Amino acid sequence: MANVEDNLFKNVISHAKEYGFIFPSSEIYDGLSAVYDYGQNGAELKNNIKEYWWKFMTLLHDNIVGIDAAIFMHPTTWKASGHVDAFNDPMVDNKDSKKRYRADVLVEDAIAKMEEKIDKEVEKAAKRFGESFNAEMFKSTNPRVLEYQKKIDEANQRMKDALGSGDMAAMKQLIIDLEITDPISGTKNWTDVRQFNLMFSTEIGSVAEEANKIYLRPETAQGIFVNFLNVQKTGRMKIPFGIAQIGKAFRNEIVARQFIFRMREFEQMEMQFFVKPGEEMKWYEFWKAKRLKWHLALGLGTENYRYHDHLNLAHYANAACDIQFNFPMGFKELEGIHSRTDFDLKSHEKYSGKKLQYFDSEDNQNFIPYVVETSVGLDRCFLAILSKSYKEEKLDDGSERVVLRLPAPLAPHKVAILPLTKKDGLPEKAMEIMNELKYDLRCFYEEKDAIGKRYRRQDAIGTPYCITIDHQTLEDNTVTIRDRDSMKQERVKIADVKGKLIDACSINNLLRKI
Ligand code: ATP
Repeated sequence: MANVEDNLFKNVISHAKEYGFIFPSSEIYDGLSAVYDYGQNGAELKNNIKEYWWKFMTLLHDNIVGIDAAIFMHPTTWKASGHVDAFNDPMVDNKDSKKRYRADVLVEDAIAKMEEKIDKEVEKAAKRFGESFNAEMFKSTNPRVLEYQKKIDEANQRMKDALGSGDMAAMKQLIIDLEITDPISGTKNWTDVRQFNLMFSTEIGSVAEEANKIYLRPETAQGIFVNFLNVQKTGRMKIPFGIAQIGKAFRNEIVARQFIFRMREFEQMEMQFFVKPGEEMKWYEFWKAKRLKWHLALGLGTENYRYHDHLNLAHYANAACDIQFNFPMGFKELEGIHSRTDFDLKSHEKYSGKKLQYFDSEDNQNFIPYVVETSVGLDRCFLAILSKSYKEEKLDDGSERVVLRLPAPLAPHKVAILPLTKKDGLPEKAMEIMNELKYDLRCFYEEKDAIGKRYRRQDAIGTPYCITIDHQTLEDNTVTIRDRDSMKQERVKIADVKGKLIDACSINNLLRKI
């Protein structure tokens, strides 16, 4: 199974390159590790995901507004946010394979393996006991399951303690005690665990004496926090309200593998929701549910999403969970929902000496709001959508096709306009149709090659509809519309094409489903 999944992932990656979705960055120089460029189709898909998110947040919630803050921020920002002192990952090297790992990820993987063992025991027992089987009862009484669970709980607790106190020796001991081996060399020959700060730094100012160390932002959230009062006052926002933002973030990730899942330069879509202290848990639950709905409306399959509560809370959070997605390499974090308390605003108050409080005119009192954050990686959304849409299909006639079954509103091109031949006035008629459609729908025009070949190329980039203009079109003003997924063709009056396609391809209609 693992191999099938591995191959699938490899095929998705090469498909993304071959069809202009994603290229390795500066490829002519052999690329740059964990940095990627989006090609002509990738940029369109990415923009559509952004629009879907931005409209959901800011159009459908009249108490959320969007901003676009700079990537560079005053260096004290990152002192106040805790990133200078605490934005570290524990890293460890295997001396034989010379590969570097995140120590916490090694431990989490070991825990996941134990969880799998429990699942297997439950599965086996379910088969044995048949209908009368009670999984919860079995899990709370079976000695083998209880032993695994005890080991899991202990490992979680030890990791939490070690990371919480910054005790890297304890982290190493945990790796040894769990008998973790390097997946490549198969040995347990580990270096000590060391802390590694993930922020990129550079210098601002042209003259050396003036130069000041600054950072490339590792998250977009801080641009929102420092603008909290600017937005609240100028927008006359009343709590609860949110500020949304889409933008680049940079992290010098230790292990930068897995394609665009973990990059050193990536994009986040974040929203900070400011609430009354004490009401944060209500809003935390609210946003957990809302954000999942946003994902589910894409139709990639309910079974591919799950919540994962955090045991090891970040320094700023009092509750946190991930929405995980079933990526080709298994369930991994797609989005984080965090209850960040008043940590950030309080800390910015302290470091800046400026009041960052909200005046509640109803209660006649000032307070620092609590914050619930939703933070989703744009590139991870892209990977989720691309990898689940990618299908290698065997057709009834024995031939094969690769199709991207992208949600139609997100597809790079909504419709391909294909004159059957290059002559007899068909291209002119096709152009006429395209000129009518192009203001509402991104069209792709093509007249080269046999029609079947052209259909396949459109399948490969996920174009949901192809319009074919043939000789009958000239006689009765009808065209055929071919549906990407069913491959069925239907004859439609030209006058009806636009309405039909807009209906199926509009992001606004997708939003209505949430
Ligand atoms: P992970 O545990 O996978 O490193 P994180 O918990 O550090 O992620 P957050 O700080 O919560 O991530 O960031 C919010 C979102 O930003 C994540 O859910 C993810 O979608 C995205 N993200 C974080 N780091 C990266 C990265 N290096 N490359 C691409 N997307 C990322």
